[in-house]
Amino acid sequence: MIILKFGGSSVGNAERVKSVVDIVIKSLEVNKKIAVVFSAFQGITDLLIEAGTQAAAGSNKYLTLLELINNKHKQALKELVKHENYNDYEIVIERRLNELNELLQGVYLIKELTPKTLDHLMSFGERLSCQIITFCFNDKGVKADFCDARKLIKTDDNYNNAKVDLLQTNTNVKEYFENKTNLQVITGFISSTVNEETTTLGRGGSDYTASIIGAALDVEEIEIWTDVDGVLTADPRKVTNSFPVLNLSYEEAMELSHFGAKVIHPPTMYPAMVKHIPIRIKNTFNPKFLGTIIGAKNTDFRFRIKGISSVDEVSILRVQGPGMVGVAGIAKRLFGTLAAAGINIILISQASSEHSICLAILPKYTSKAKKIIEQEFVYEIKDGLVNEVIVENQLSIIAVVGENMRMTAGNAGKVFQSLGKNNINIIAIAQGSSELNISMVIAKERLVEALNVIHNEFFNKIYKVNLFLAGVGNIGNELLNIITKKQKKLLADKNVELNIVGVANSKQMLFDKKGIDIANCKSILFDSKQSMSTDGYVNNIITHKTENNIFVDCTTSQQIADIYLELLENGVNVVAANKKAASGNYDYYKKLKSISNGKVKFLYETNVGAGLPIIETIKGLIESGDEIISIEAVLSGTLSYIFNSFNGSKKFSEIISDAKNKGYTEPDPRDDLNGMDVLRKLLILIRECGIIIEAGDIEKVNILPDSVFDNSSVDEFMNKIKLYDDDFENVRKDAAMENKKLRYIAEYSNNQAKIVLKTVDLNSPFYNLADTDNMVVIKTANYNKTPLVIQGPGAGVKVTAAGVMTDIMKIINNIG
Ligand code: ADP
Ligand code: ASP
Ligand code: MG
Repeated sequence: MIILKFGGSSVGNAERVKSVVDIVIKSLEVNKKIAVVFSAFQGITDLLIEAGTQAAAGSNKYLTLLELINNKHKQALKELVKHENYNDYEIVIERRLNELNELLQGVYLIKELTPKTLDHLMSFGERLSCQIITFCFNDKGVKADFCDARKLIKTDDNYNNAKVDLLQTNTNVKEYFENKTNLQVITGFISSTVNEETTTLGRGGSDYTASIIGAALDVEEIEIWTDVDGVLTADPRKVTNSFPVLNLSYEEAMELSHFGAKVIHPPTMYPAMVKHIPIRIKNTFNPKFLGTIIGAKNTDFRFRIKGISSVDEVSILRVQGPGMVGVAGIAKRLFGTLAAAGINIILISQASSEHSICLAILPKYTSKAKKIIEQEFVYEIKDGLVNEVIVENQLSIIAVVGENMRMTAGNAGKVFQSLGKNNINIIAIAQGSSELNISMVIAKERLVEALNVIHNEFFNKIYKVNLFLAGVGNIGNELLNIITKKQKKLLADKNVELNIVGVANSKQMLFDKKGIDIANCKSILFDSKQSMSTDGYVNNIITHKTENNIFVDCTTSQQIADIYLELLENGVNVVAANKKAASGNYDYYKKLKSISNGKVKFLYETNVGAGLPIIETIKGLIESGDEIISIEAVLSGTLSYIFNSFNGSKKFSEIISDAKNKGYTEPDPRDDLNGMDVLRKLLILIRECGIIIEAGDIEKVNILPDSVFDNSSVDEFMNKIKLYDDDFENVRKDAAMENKKLRYIAEYSNNQAKIVLKTVDLNSPFYNLADTDNMVVIKTANYNKTPLVIQGPGAGVKVTAAGVMTDIMKIINNIG
């Protein structure tokens, strides 16, 4: 079973009621068992209050208002029911309207509108709307009963804002629904005392009615239908670019509504929370939209906060005096007297000096509150220990709410800074220790501006990220493709505008602060008049005086690797596919690493194993305090392919030329076969373990004699290696006889690093490697018996470019 509640905003006129009836009929088809709660027709509660107030003031203007109320209901009835039934139904409605007329006449005569009479008066709104809607359902063929919630919901006699006796109410609701098969059309907002006196649950209380009845019936979902797409990030009437929040925890919803988000009545969350029933806020104007789901868990992590709400007008009472410092019990007396007088405190803030306590309350309570506090502390005031209570009016409270604040630092700073930048003064601040809510008091006249400033800061701020690319070969080009595809999503999901603002190949360079057209990037670069120089490139990046700059190196150039330090020192992030820096001179590597910190990053995950998360994993292990015992790895995608394919069907030299033709090798295959690439990667991994090591410290056993690596042409080299085909075949055959395979393995243990061609048997993790796969086997103090293994394609344009993008995303995710 589910319960649906429709607010006044959903039943503004007969047309709106008709579409709500359709929503209910559809829901009946899907959910079979449902109940519905309705508010008064839009604006009726206000009209009733106004009529009552006029009558009590002895003004016969109330008659005009009453006329308006009569007409609205009769008009609605006429438009909603079948013509032939109208007269029968009208008798019922007429009777109720007469009752209302008599009540108002009584108020007019005795010139008094007590809270008790006001509740009785307001109850007509829901009793009339629900009666008319019940007739409408019946005429549409849906068997429905009018259900007056006053017989179900029992409260104390705190008129206008009664407290519900949940125990009694639950019993009543369960009993009532026991054998009901018709659709129950329940009046929201209204309730009664044990003596059957009408009470109400506070303005906007129909939401609460739905939750109370839904919880008593253990429904699967409580749907609150209104006129907006759910709970929005801020009040749409004040912040025009607010948008729906997908999910809120019960606590977040309570905080937002307590601090003014009118879309849901604050106590609504309580009954649902006790029974773990989700509440969904939906839009009658946009029924297909999923709306906001309020449940036990927060699952919307898109932004640091969930929403901003405000109490538009409050007053502040400042209670201070020298006698308050270090004296226990002052706060207790202060809050006690206010509670006894039924005055609700919205916000409390106390300085640690305890010299003053500041309370925010609704303006209607101000003079009463000042009076009773001064009465309570009459002796202290006489003795000069407590000063007279200071009142400040025309203030507002803004509350910034969200559980995600617990996980990130600097939120309060962000709020205060944004207000400060706009010269909006904060008068008082309160933050609960749960870090769910930061509330502050500001001048009322700055409220809308302040809400927009904070909203922009957290939700609408566009973060510009400027990317400077060096190298538009295979990887650089593929990276540009990835970026083109990601740009829109980054803007939509993370408010990040990622632009390529600089690009260079070995000959030319090009800059455009507004962003280079990626689709034509290569041709524009080709036509560029600026010839490439590393100094010129660095200067351009550094003088590009904006935040969030990232330099991406997709070259293999030592010269480019040499500019990283200057860039990092100038606050430019560096992402390198180029291995030269991380595997070059140790001191340089160390400098780059030591500058890379929380603010500016040097990332080079693709230096080892292309897109595989190898460097990140080792870094994580070291940071967690684990100790690396050994690393064994196949680190060259090219050599991996060559040895994986060398199974006797082809000669060794033929496989190399196959690999070359398939584009798996460098243009000059000697660059792969000389083992230097593997050596660089092993060097980087060992350095990641915190070991000081240079390339010369690694023992490398070449798979081919030095003489083949001379300066002859590639073709000559390809011919020369044929001389070694027999040798390789013999080694392979010997290994195969023992059921072993050849693998070029990089190893590090006991401070020894070497790279050798090995034969491995079935028990080795390297035995079954296929294609261009890399594999890294890491043994640590924690991963000892079973080592940690990372395996996957360790070469290829797509995976490498994706790996570079992952590094870029690490920087982007850190922004803001
Ligand atoms: P109903 O009549 O359906 O109960 P309400 O008028 O009580 O509707 O609540 C819906 C209204 O709440 C919206 O039209 C919107 O103007 C206002 N509102 C204020 N703050 C928010 C918010 N954070 N999210 C959504 N709506 C809000
Ligand atoms: N009709 C009541 C009001 O206007 C209750 C509600 O709308 O929820 O406050
Ligand atoms: Mg409401």
